[in-house]
This record gives sequence, C-alpha cells and structure tokens, in this order.
Amino acid sequence: MKSLQAKRILVTGGAGFLGSHLCERLLQQGNEVLCVDNFYTGRRSNVAHLIENPLFEVMRHDITFPLFVEVDEIYNLACPASPIHYQFDPVQTTKTSVHGSINMLGLAKRVRAKILQASTSEVYGDPLVHPQTEAYWGNVNPVGFRSCYDEGKRCAETLFFDYNRQHALRIKVARIFNTYGPRMHPNDGRVVSNFIVQALKGDDITIYGDGSQTRSFCYVDDLIEGLVRLMDSPEDFTGPINLGNPVEFTILTLAERVIKLTGSQSRISFKPLPSDDPTQRQPDISLARAILEWQPFIQLEEGLEKTIAYFSRLV
Ligand code: NAD
Ligand code: UDP
Repeated sequence: MKSLQAKRILVTGGAGFLGSHLCERLLQQGNEVLCVDNFYTGRRSNVAHLIENPLFEVMRHDITFPLFVEVDEIYNLACPASPIHYQFDPVQTTKTSVHGSINMLGLAKRVRAKILQASTSEVYGDPLVHPQTEAYWGNVNPVGFRSCYDEGKRCAETLFFDYNRQHALRIKVARIFNTYGPRMHPNDGRVVSNFIVQALKGDDITIYGDGSQTRSFCYVDDLIEGLVRLMDSPEDFTGPINLGNPVEFTILTLAERVIKLTGSQSRISFKPLPSDDPTQRQPDISLARAILEWQPFIQLEEGLEKTIAYFSRLV
C-alpha cells in the first residue's frame, strides 16, 4: 500500500548486504524504491523476495556513469565494503566513491533530492583517539592497500559538504562502524561471515594477528534504523554522525563466541596481520543518541544467532 507520505527513493548498492535490508525497510514504509547496482558484490538473490512488489524496481547500473532518474531521496551505498573486494580493483573502488558521489550529487542537485552518504569508520584510519568522536580527523595512510577505500570515502565526504555549501544541497553523512547480519556475502572475507562459515564447515577459524585487535559490531537491523532516522533528521543537520554499536570486543573473543554458538569443533589458527589493520575501533555515539534518539539494541549473541541461522541454510 502506498502511503500519503510515500516518496520515490533511490538506493545505490541496493542489492548488497546493507542495501537490501534498507530497500526492504523503505518498501515496508510504503515508499517507491529504485535499487541501482552493478552487482560487483551485490546479488540478485538479496532482493529476489522484493521483486514481486510493484513499488520496487531494480536497475543494473554502475554509478561511476551518470544516471538520470526522478527521485525525492537518495541513499548512496554503492561501494564494495570488504577489504578483499575493495582491494581487488582499487582504482574502481576510488572511482566508485569519487566519480560515483559526483554523479549522485549531480543527480540530487538536478532533481533537488535529499542525499545520504554511507561513509565509514575507516575515515578515522588507525585511530589515535579512542573512542572515536565525529570531531576526530583520523589517522589514515594515503598510499597503502586500504587507501582506495579510506581516502575514497574521505573524498566523498568532502564532495558532500562542498555540494552542501556551494549548492545548498540537503546532505546527510553517516559514518558506519562494522555491521553484520544475514545477506553478508559468504566469501566476502569480513570477520563475522568468515568466522561463521569456517565454524559451520568445521574449518580452522583464521585470526589475523594475535586477535587482540578490537572491533564494535552492530547488527544490521539497528544500523538500518539509524540510517532512516538520519535521513529524516532536522533539515539543517548534515552529520557526519557515527552509527555503530559502542560495545567493543577483541577478535579473539568474537572467535570464541562463534565457536560456542555454533557448537563447532573448529580450532583457532593464527595468520599474519594485514598491513594497516586498525588495532582498536569503537564509536562514540553521543551525537546519534542526542540528535536521532538512536542506539543499538541487539546484543552480539542475539545478532550472531540470527546470522548463524542464515549461513546455516547456505553452507
Ligand atoms: P556490499 O559490498 O554488500 O554492498 C555494496 C553494493 O554496492 C553491492 O551490491 C555492489 O554490487 C554495489 N556496487 C559497488 N560498486 C558499485 C558501482 N560502481 N555502481 C553500482 N553499484 C556498485 O557492502 P555493504 O556492507 O552492504 O556496504 C554498503 C555501504 O555501506 C558501502 O558504501 C560501505 O562502504 C558502507 N559501510 C558498510 C559497513 C559494514 O560494516 N557493512 C561499514 C562501513 C561502511
Ligand atoms: N579478521 C580476522 N580473520 C578473518 C577476517 C578478519 O582475524 O578471517 C580480522 C581483521 O584483520 C580485522 C578484523 O578482523 O582486524 C575485522 O576485519 P574486517 O575485514 O571484518 O573489517 P575491518 O578491518 O574493515 O574493520
């Protein structure tokens, strides 16, 4: 059913992990959703259950090329997020963040749409401030293997704020911290999906380094709620704003939890730590609590159980 406040909403990267959950959520609210994706890491199966919905449309398109559509809002999520995938074709990764943002900002300017950028905690690099607030400018290597992603996303933030100042465009910038859940790509190399798939297959759990590095893991439903609230936040609020779960775990603890919850016989094996791998990461979400009245509710064990249930059907 289309509601009175229904909007036409473009979700770039809509067939990816986060994008597919976002499309689903926006459709539930009665909006028309146009999912644009080049299927680099996204899959048709992620949105197959939405295809029958007359308010939903999928378009194969690479956002490094211009797009001409009429929409009210744009969520710009297109960009591979896992290190394996974004480092496979680093030039395309930078192009997606930079040329892609220019194209989507140009579209927003032409049709006067409000536009949200899925930025990342990686803009903080290997942070020297802990936990990270939005005021921290980051500690990023500009010439390393992760730079195509980190610097691409930093440049995208710059572009968003320049379009806001130069063209009075309505922008929202979310800095997303590690998020996990069903529909992560089973081979995407991110830690939660890797550990669960390894545990379900009885393979060794591969910890890079000694496992003392930390991450804060947000379950996808909490994150999507944060993104929608940000889009609907007061007109003059642009962000950047941290969205993530502030509860921090070591990677070793994560491995132990996954083994326990899957009842797996897998053993832990230690592998070399990739270069520029951040040692600590935890969002300060005071701003999100204050402006969006948002905070994550789903605890790690509950989220892992739902994610394990999803991967159990695939593996
Ligand atoms: P994902 O790889 O599952 O989704 C990205 C989607 O973008 C895929 O469907 C892919 O095919 C598509 N895509 C890539 N390049 C494209 C291009 N040039 N044109 C059109 N489509 C393109 O990753 P995700 O975890 O869903 O991440 C979505 C967004 O959120 C990304 O921008 C990512 O940087 C950001 N983010 C995610 C996390 C996380 O933990 N999941 C953390 C921080 C930021
Ligand atoms: N990691 C790991 N084993 C794996 C995959 C990742 O120990 O099989 C580590 C990785 O080195 C990093 C952390 O888990 O310290 C999170 O990695 P991920 O790629 O999920 O996200 P990011 O580094 O971008 O936060």
